[in-house]
Amino acid sequence: MSIFQGSETSQPHIALFPSAGMGHLTPFLRLASMLLSHNCMVTLITTKSTVSVAESTYISFFLSTHPEIKHIEFQVPPMQPSNTTTDDPFFIQFKATNRSAHLIHPLISSLSPPLSAIFSDLVVASGVSKVAVDLATLVSNTITLPDCKGILMNTFDCFEPETVEKTLSAINNKRALRNLPLILPIGPLGTYELEKDQGQYLPWLNSQPAESVVFVSFGSRTAMSKDQIKELRHGLQKSEYRFLWILKTKTVDKDDTEDLEDLLSCSFLERTKNKGMVLKEWVNQQDILAHPAVGGFVNHCGWNSVMEAAQRGIPMLAWPQHGDQKANAEVLEKAGLGIWNRTWGWGGQRLVKTDGNQKRISELMTDVKLKSRAKKVGEEARQATGNGGSSIKTTMEVLLKEK
Ligand code: UDP
Ligand code: UDP
Repeated sequence: MSIFQGSETSQPHIALFPSAGMGHLTPFLRLASMLLSHNCMVTLITTKSTVSVAESTYISFFLSTHPEIKHIEFQVPPMQPSNTTTDDPFFIQFKATNRSAHLIHPLISSLSPPLSAIFSDLVVASGVSKVAVDLATLVSNTITLPDCKGILMNTFDCFEPETVEKTLSAINNKRALRNLPLILPIGPLGTYELEKDQGQYLPWLNSQPAESVVFVSFGSRTAMSKDQIKELRHGLQKSEYRFLWILKTKTVDKDDTEDLEDLLSCSFLERTKNKGMVLKEWVNQQDILAHPAVGGFVNHCGWNSVMEAAQRGIPMLAWPQHGDQKANAEVLEKAGLGIWNRTWGWGGQRLVKTDGNQKRISELMTDVKLKSRAKKVGEEARQATGNGGSSIKTTMEVLLKEK
């Protein structure tokens, strides 16, 4: 989302303000990298401190590789536990940030050259646009949308043709909901340079046949129950496909201290050691999805993951866990990028048994039509962000407006 102001220089100066969590930070760092390549000045505003270790690691590395970026650290006054109704540390941080977002103003008002725009995350938009309404995060932020000039979306025309072509053109041409800002699909956001990956999984992937590996990962903040881990473990084993499984048992990375052996049993790890790899650590997902050995992606449908799979044309087995993820699953299924078994419900709602897991994983890896549809999505994604593509055109229009 962007809140535009006038600028006297011809080079747009854009402040980026992501909210808590890797799922929010990642698209902003990608956007920063894209803006720099389009000759913009960039100021990155981050909160002090971050909720997860992954966030602070990524911010430090990104800034060290882009010394031209100005960095503002925004000290967020902590919330009193009595002021929150959730115990999710990321949601508490959204709320705390929103409540004190007005304190950002003095930090950015003296920037030189002055800012042309602030691109902020929806979950902190109401604070950024100084409209204080004390409702549920999403609702209170959504009602501030008319105060913004545009909504940047990490999607592309061909992926959501109905939304982009019909609904958005109705909104953008003011035929619907007069007070909504322009909606601007600029995705999939490109990747950016990450710290050299030391992970043992890349050499392992290098030795696997093309498109033979099922990649299982549920993003940066979705923990799986021990019972579900057990069923998925059996499902993977019975499916007999090679697999790379990134396991999380806690919402925040620094709390995730349990041993793999305790979670999966030594015998499973021993039995599958030639066939699969299970890790309980941060991996470079963008590199894994780009690896030719990966043939399918079992995922919770966080939107960054969906866009990353779309970019690479990797078929997905959608297993939404919470929040917006069922809507995302529906979109990706409709686009032809993946399959979704609605009866699995939300994460934790019901235990998906071994046979269900096995059946769907096999379908993911063998369905030839799915594979070719997913590849087509990959081509369309590359076209959207390539020369003359729809997303590049939209990006250039936004930047020209900010000059
Ligand atoms: N990610 C990663 N390594 C991990 C876990 C996640 O690189 O071990 C990245 C992933 O590629 C994506 C982001 O973190 O860009 C997670 O965002 P997403 O919207 O997919 O899900 P969330 O974590 O917000 O639920
Ligand atoms: N949400 C929720 N519970 C959760 C996670 C998300 O209700 O545990 C809702 C919430 O309204 C939030 C929206 O889903 O604003 C999107 O959440 P988030 O950006 O964390 O989704 P993700 O990054 O996982 O796609």
